[in-house]
Amino acid sequence: MFKNKVDEKAYSHNYYLEHKEELKAKQKIWRETHKEQWNGYNKKWRKSNPDDVRERAKKYRTENRDKINKKRRENHFKYKEKQKEYRDNLKLKVFNHYCNGDIHCQCPNCPETNPKFLTLDHINGGGNQQRRELGSSTAIYKWIIDNNYPEGYQVLCANCNFGRQMYGVCPHEKEIK
Ligand SMILES: [Zn+2]
Ligand SMILES: [Zn+2]
Repeated sequence: MFKNKVDEKAYSHNYYLEHKEELKAKQKIWRETHKEQWNGYNKKWRKSNPDDVRERAKKYRTENRDKINKKRRENHFKYKEKQKEYRDNLKLKVFNHYCNGDIHCQCPNCPETNPKFLTLDHINGGGNQQRRELGSSTAIYKWIIDNNYPEGYQVLCANCNFGRQMYGVCPHEKEIK
């Protein structure tokens, strides 16, 4: 059928190009129905062609940079979301305990109930030191839960915390007197 090897090669290459999608689909089905065999081939090939493997991976990364970055961003985002959920849960659990189930700023007369504005206050100070020792406020919440909610903590909003630091007592309390 072919005059020489070169023609045969050209023909098969043309044939491949013309039937690319069809052949790819067939290969895919074969791979899926012969998983173990395919994995065996693949492993062997990868082992004996490490340079090719590297080159292909590099090519794939270059050609799919946007896709890879998008995936990476998505995963990072998902991870961040999970972390945030975990932190929020710990925080709410601790707030809930020190507020007896009704989360609010415990400064008298302060109307703040939004947990986003609330922080945990060490009644006798030492908050900064504990944060230094444990590493983060999340670690403090975790520590409190693990130690069965020790005494000496209260929930305050950022304003009242600031008021206490600035004036010794929160201006809310001064107004009452
Ligand atoms: Zn407050
Ligand atoms: Zn206050």
